[in-house]
Amino acid sequence: MPITEIQFPILTHFLCSVESNTGMPPQPLDATPAQAAKAEAKQQQEDGRPNLPKGVVLGPDGKPCRSCTSVASWMAMARSSPSGSKPTNIATSVPPAQTTSSLDIPSDCPPDVEQLGRSTWTLLHSLTANYPERPSLTQQSDTRQFMSLFGKMYPCWVCADDFRAWMQNGNAPKVSNREEFGKWMCEAHNAVNVKLGKPSFDCDKWEERWRTGWKDGRCD
Ligand SMILES: Cc1cc2nc3c(=O)[nH]c(=O)nc-3n(C[C@H](O)[C@H](O)[C@H](O)COP(=O)(O)OP(=O)(O)OC[C@H]3O[C@@H](n4cnc5c(N)ncnc54)[C@H](O)[C@@H]3O)c2cc1C
Repeated sequence: MPITEIQFPILTHFLCSVESNTGMPPQPLDATPAQAAKAEAKQQQEDGRPNLPKGVVLGPDGKPCRSCTSVASWMAMARSSPSGSKPTNIATSVPPAQTTSSLDIPSDCPPDVEQLGRSTWTLLHSLTANYPERPSLTQQSDTRQFMSLFGKMYPCWVCADDFRAWMQNGNAPKVSNREEFGKWMCEAHNAVNVKLGKPSFDCDKWEERWRTGWKDGRCD
């Protein structure tokens, strides 16, 4: 007979009610990551959910979201699903952050989270580089609206959620002139860099990187 049943009747009652309410046996409070992963895998098996690799993110339709997932995680998922069939549920919503640089996939495949990100930053910084030095009130208002819609429509929804939260948290777009907008975009990009553990970019150099080319002339 378990010791709790003999010595701690109140604890036993509590644990039994946890089990009857949640359908799960009581878990150790200090489960190690390995124990937690094992418990999650077991739960997935019981629920009939596939065991998806870490980093695979579900889209709003409940299916794996390619634009939210790195190539590395996507390929790991494809390898782990039986006979190449695609799973329809997700096991985790861990933010995507694995590198794809070592993976060689054809250039005409749908973009993963990194390729989409690189292309999007190119568009966003190029927008700032071509923004007027003295924008009209309409241009400023259009730009604010664009950034707001962008935050709702960016295809990596976990990225978009965080980006919207960042903008709403005292970082509304600064659009009164090119310099201000360019710096703001650089800071926005740095906020994502920090989140992903990447080095910050020196925002005094945003214009050299995205508009004029480097002073050493290598872009001329
Ligand atoms: C709005 C948004 C949110 C994102 N959120 C996530 C996320 O939550 N999780 C995730 O995994 N990925 C996210 N991404 C993608 C991520 O930011 C990167 O694009 C991706 O990881 C590829 O990174 P990279 O190292 O190739 O360079 P990128 O970060 O794509 O940068 C491209 C180039 O821009 C220049 N650069 C770098 N930083 C700056 C800066 N601050 N200002 C100006 N120029 C700069 C550098 O020359 C760099 O090579 C997001 C992308 C966007 C557009």
